[in-house]
This record gives sequence, structure tokens and C-alpha cells, in this order.
Amino acid sequence: MTEEHCIFCEIISGAIPAAVVYEDDGTIAFLDMMPVNKGHALVVPKKHSRNIFDASHETLAYLMPVAQKIARAVQKGTGAEGINIHMNNEPAAGQAVFHIHIHVIPRFHKDGITMWKGRPYLDGEMQRLASQIKTALR
Ligand code: AMP
Ligand code: ZN
Repeated sequence: MTEEHCIFCEIISGAIPAAVVYEDDGTIAFLDMMPVNKGHALVVPKKHSRNIFDASHETLAYLMPVAQKIARAVQKGTGAEGINIHMNNEPAAGQAVFHIHIHVIPRFHKDGITMWKGRPYLDGEMQRLASQIKTALR
């Protein structure tokens, strides 16, 4: 997807409306139109990148402090008892909008939202995966 056809770039430029809760030189935050819980916000760097894989260190370094600011505000503003910070990267991981963003999701005890479940490794598998990932880091 090019920047010209990016829905989040259009929100950033003001071409389409959004329920903006925060904006600074590098970042915008607005409410997700299909919230997991009411008050679910998206924190979006203004500079277009696709996701975690191509974003610059500068973009990423700025994103998390703003996510913290928004998390605190969402917690206060909604009365949330907890917050999930979440990022989808690539379609296999559920990414639907290809402009990097962090989900800030207010959570409540017994809100009925189920998280993914862990599954055990087979014998030897955990060490093999750890070594493949360590090799990829070299
Ligand atoms: P993701 O699966 O991480 O790419 O999530 C994209 C999110 O953007 C979804 O939760 C959508 O509901 C949300 N979304 C898409 N278009 C808009 C929009 N115009 N305004 C607000 N939220 C949007
Ligand atoms: Zn974009």
C-alpha cells in the first residue's frame, strides 16, 4: 500500500475525520472505530512506515513514550482496570491497516475478552527455536 492510499495518512493529513485525542509533531492518537472495548485508541506515528519490520529507530523510540501517555489517559478517561498494548505486524498477525500503529485497549475484570493461549513445545523444540533465532540475530 502506498502512502497516497493509506487511510491513516489521510487521517494525519486531515483528509478524513477521526476522534483525535492527542497530536504532536511526530504522532497522532485517535479512537479505533471498531473498539475491542470503548475508548480503545490507536497511536500512530505521522511518518509512514508499514510496521515493526521497516520502521526507523527514531519512529519506534518515540512511539512507546506516547503509547504510555495515551495508556495513562485511556485508563483515567475510561476507568479501565488494565490496559493491553498491542501491535499487529503483517496479515498473518492480523494487520489490516498497513501504517504502523499501537493499539491501546482498556480492559476490565470480566470484560469477556479472551487472550490467546500458550501451547507447550515438543521435546528439544524450544532449544532449537532459540538457536535459530540467535543465529538470525548475528
Ligand atoms: P490492525 O489489525 O492492527 O491493522 O488494526 C487496524 C485498526 O484500525 C482496526 O482495529 C480498525 O478498526 C481501525 N480502523 C480502520 N480504519 C479506521 C478509521 N478510519 N478510523 C478509526 N479506526 C480505524
Ligand atoms: Zn500511512
